[in-house]
Amino acid sequence: MPSSFRILQVDHIGIAVNQPDKIASFFHLIGLPFLGVEEVSEQKVCTSMFDVHSVHLELLNATHEDSPISKFLLKKGDGIHHIALRVDHLENAIQELIESGIQMIDQQPRKGAGNKRIAFIHPKSTGGILVELSQEIHEL
Ligand code: ZN
Repeated sequence: MPSSFRILQVDHIGIAVNQPDKIASFFHLIGLPFLGVEEVSEQKVCTSMFDVHSVHLELLNATHEDSPISKFLLKKGDGIHHIALRVDHLENAIQELIESGIQMIDQQPRKGAGNKRIAFIHPKSTGGILVELSQEIHEL
């Protein structure tokens, strides 16, 4: 059990897609509220968020061919790209995980979509699954 942070909930599931409109129209059909589109230019991705009772489904499509999402889609095709867990204290989480021997992609929080600070954990440390930690900025 971690001592300096807590996992609060699943924040969102990131899904890499070549054609976001197709799954978006399915999400509309089943009545999921659409929260909006946001471009995260430093990662060269465009995100479209849908809400499922405060857990979000985040569609990710590349805005440039050297985006990490382009590389993922080429290698694995459309599918779940990462799982994001909301934490109550992001710096503590990063620090404690590093001390536990976990390899972080981000050793410092960085800005994610939706007014959140995020840090990715390297899939090498999680059995091959990309895990994102996120914290809402207003929770600071
Ligand atoms: Zn994410």
